[in-house]
Amino acid sequence: MKKTLWARLITCYLISVVLVFVFVNTYGMALLQKKLKKDQTNLLYKEASLISASYRGTLFDHEQSPDNLASQFRSINTYLNIRVWIVNRDGQIVADSSNIDNSPNVNLNDLDPGFLNKTISENTMFESLFNEPMLSIIRRVDYNFRLRGYIVLHSPMSEIQNKAYIYMDVINICFLIIFPLLFLIFIYIYYITAKPLKHLMKAAVEYGSGNYNYKINIKGPSEYRDLAAALSFMAQEISQLDDYQKKFVANISHDFRSPLTSIKGYAEAIMDGTIPPDMQNKYLNIILFETERLNKLTSSLLELNRFDNRSAMLDIVTFDINYIIKKTAESFEGTCKAKKITLNLIFSSPETYVEADMGKIQQVLYNLIDNAIKFSHNNSEIKVSTEEKGEKVFVSVKDYGIGIPKDAIKKIWDRFYKTDASRGKDKKGTGLGLSIAKEIIQAHNENINVISTEGVGSEFIFTLKKSSE
Ligand code: ADP
Repeated sequence: MKKTLWARLITCYLISVVLVFVFVNTYGMALLQKKLKKDQTNLLYKEASLISASYRGTLFDHEQSPDNLASQFRSINTYLNIRVWIVNRDGQIVADSSNIDNSPNVNLNDLDPGFLNKTISENTMFESLFNEPMLSIIRRVDYNFRLRGYIVLHSPMSEIQNKAYIYMDVINICFLIIFPLLFLIFIYIYYITAKPLKHLMKAAVEYGSGNYNYKINIKGPSEYRDLAAALSFMAQEISQLDDYQKKFVANISHDFRSPLTSIKGYAEAIMDGTIPPDMQNKYLNIILFETERLNKLTSSLLELNRFDNRSAMLDIVTFDINYIIKKTAESFEGTCKAKKITLNLIFSSPETYVEADMGKIQQVLYNLIDNAIKFSHNNSEIKVSTEEKGEKVFVSVKDYGIGIPKDAIKKIWDRFYKTDASRGKDKKGTGLGLSIAKEIIQAHNENINVISTEGVGSEFIFTLKKSSE
């Protein structure tokens, strides 16, 4: 049988019905009998006390005839079905409410020598006197500090049993009414559980086949509505990822194709002699430049891929960020000289120790300073500064170059994004530098931000954890 929700609910229902029924009719019945026996015993004790209190002085009065005594207990016998014996201290039954005119001439000590010493006896079977088991209680009667005799009360065990059966019948009838109602509740649970599931399944199939715009129309418990919302959110994310992937492939193809086309074109031209030998050097340099660009593109893609796979492990060490900035700045000396750019390093203290992955932070600095130089005008200035604030160190790279248009500020962190101005100006850029910087800073659980005004300049600021040592 298929393990469907319906099959499981029905199985649960049947198991619960059988379990409840069996439990109530066994353990429940035993508890009920125990309770009824206790109630009956209490009633017998109460009656015995009443008799003792009312008749204590006269019970064993020799002038009182036994039959007269017995007749006084007839109503207890008739209405409560309690048999009353008055037993003298020798164990002789002197009055019996069941045999008013003819009390049994029996000595209880002969039938059961220990009987009168007990206070209660279950299933009493004096075969000559009863024809069914009895619940009996024995109460001593003392008067003027002397034992006068005993009041013994009996009630049939069968009566307790019968009462228990009557109660149990009522309970079972209630169950017969409740069980079908319970079944209706199970059907309702199935309905509110299975119907939204079918909708969700349909949605999953639609999303699976690429229809990410499919709307899930679901009514039901909030958990299902939440799941539906999560599912459609997932579909939107997948759809965006799908778009992103398409764009990504298109971008990569484009970025690889243009340098490859020029490499192929110039190499062919050199080989077939279109480019004379004295000009070859110039074109070989272009080929080298394009090869470097391809190389940079490939390593950037690999770097980003490592972050995507969450496999970029950080090697956190304590180091002086000011020293790393100086080292990175030195590598740009040549480029700065060519553009007559002054690189100003401003540190709030001579040494600023941070806890981070030194190599990766150097790469962030490299990308930011590289951009700052690329997008600065000749004869301008670039400021790189560090400042300690609380637990953080703020690193800033500020230029007075072309700036970023307002509508592009959010997009510069996207992979392959380049502003229109930079597309024309910076042929070498891949549009991946800032994405990599952002991934690195985020992997450190830190922040990177930009403040920029078109035509005025840009400032990139990122935070690092100050070393606690
Ligand atoms: P690229 O390799 O093209 O520089 P980035 O991801 O580093 O790629 O930068 C993305 C785009 O952001 C750049 O193409 C440029 O348009 C803009 N940008 C980045 N830094 C600056 C800056 N300092 N000044 C002006 N524009 C910048």
